Amino acid sequence: LGKAYSFMIRVALPGGVVSNSQYLDLDRMADEFANGSIRITTRQAVQFHGVVKDELRETMRQINASMMTTLAACGDVCRNVMASAAPFTDEVYTQIRKTTEEIAVDLRPATKAYYELWIDGQKQDIPKETEPFYGETYLPRKYKVGVTLAGENQIDVYSYDAGLVGFTEDGKLTGYNVVAGGGLGMSHGRPNTFARIADEIGFVAVENGVEAIRIVCAIYRDFGNRNDRKQARLKYLVNEKGVDWFREEFAKRASFDIQPPKVMPTIGIEDWLGPHKQNDDLWFYGVFVENGRIIDNDRTRCRSAFRKIAKEIGCDAVFTAQQSIIFSNLKESQVAELEAILKEFDVPTVDTLSNAKRYSMACPAMPTCGLAVAESERVSHDVVGAIETKLAELGLADVPLTIRMTGCPNGCARPYTADIAFVGRRPGVYHLFVGGRLTGDRMADLFAGDVKIEDAIEVLTPLLSKFAADRKENEGLGDFYQRILERDTPRKLVTGKEE
Ligand code: SF4
Repeated sequence: LGKAYSFMIRVALPGGVVSNSQYLDLDRMADEFANGSIRITTRQAVQFHGVVKDELRETMRQINASMMTTLAACGDVCRNVMASAAPFTDEVYTQIRKTTEEIAVDLRPATKAYYELWIDGQKQDIPKETEPFYGETYLPRKYKVGVTLAGENQIDVYSYDAGLVGFTEDGKLTGYNVVAGGGLGMSHGRPNTFARIADEIGFVAVENGVEAIRIVCAIYRDFGNRNDRKQARLKYLVNEKGVDWFREEFAKRASFDIQPPKVMPTIGIEDWLGPHKQNDDLWFYGVFVENGRIIDNDRTRCRSAFRKIAKEIGCDAVFTAQQSIIFSNLKESQVAELEAILKEFDVPTVDTLSNAKRYSMACPAMPTCGLAVAESERVSHDVVGAIETKLAELGLADVPLTIRMTGCPNGCARPYTADIAFVGRRPGVYHLFVGGRLTGDRMADLFAGDVKIEDAIEVLTPLLSKFAADRKENEGLGDFYQRILERDTPRKLVTGKEE
């Protein structure tokens, strides 16, 4: 007998959007091919875990038969393109989704090999495959993109290689600020790797948004480091050459007008949980999913609940960057029907969630991620629960804050912009970061290194107590921390810069 290899399959879903039938197909495939769960990723894609080798092709074939794809969900190409998840149907949000879809199509590899290998096994009759944009060597590494609106940063747009931030006037989109050079991955013991917030490059007209993202990608393709994969992300290029150089290079390649970037308004965070009016006739409803894991187990029956919602109500869905799900296109009468199903299966609604839980995220880590050096998803429920209890004890239960956890420094759950984050060092041991915030536009600091997980509450308690005693009205934990600068180690581990 050969080894029983099992795999993770990631489905790319631009903007996280799935139709009703696609959701039900994903649900069916979770049982037929995977470990009985659908996992929403922090980038609005979906992962199936535990797909055995013999069933890889059939799984991929069925995903494609449902008009979804795994192409470019991984690899040194433009990955799943993210977008503000709110399914409003006005002109502005419709344009945001249109731009997102267009970027995904524009930067999707032209390879036919994917279809030959995974879909029908038929050799395509083409003399030599050509990749008009990526060329023979593709990108130095992955390229992550997000599209959102000024003032709304649910997708953490500053943490990607490139992004578009839309500005509006009189209910119309007037253009995009192009941002570039963000990224949260880093490596332990390599001080020249660091998390970085993206810079604003310029303001471009709506019709030039897709081309702007392509130009940023082309600069990365042409100048990115191809000798050292740890240095191969766009953020290191921007950091090394400088933002002015990048702006010049961008301007040289652009055939359209580029204005200075517009000043960003105060950013808000909206996770769209609970019921919201989608347009004059329809509603949508956001539901929290712990760590994005849609599953039935001894803690939750959300998978059964969501299947019943999809089957009986017939609504569509959007996966969010915070790993939750939005059910869209509901008639007003169906909102109560949906809430009744959530209640039937004990799925928490927004009014029953603590703030600690509501904004928490964890990456999968062990046992499904080969890069994990510590647990994440499997322990985060207890870790977040312990912080939740401590916050309640200190009278801080009503403070919104982000708690994030990853099993290695790659940062898939965006830990370095959170109020509190745990980043795995080795089994049971984590670097503890503090000082980001809900709006995702500021880096956290290394607050305490190599903390055993069982000591985490003790390490955090003095800061939380001080926060409870001295916080200003409406001040978040990260903001408070930055105000009092209670750091016990230098910042360079996170930012790569001596301060
Ligand atoms: Fe990402 Fe690391 Fe978590 Fe794996 S262990 S999912 S690479 S952050």
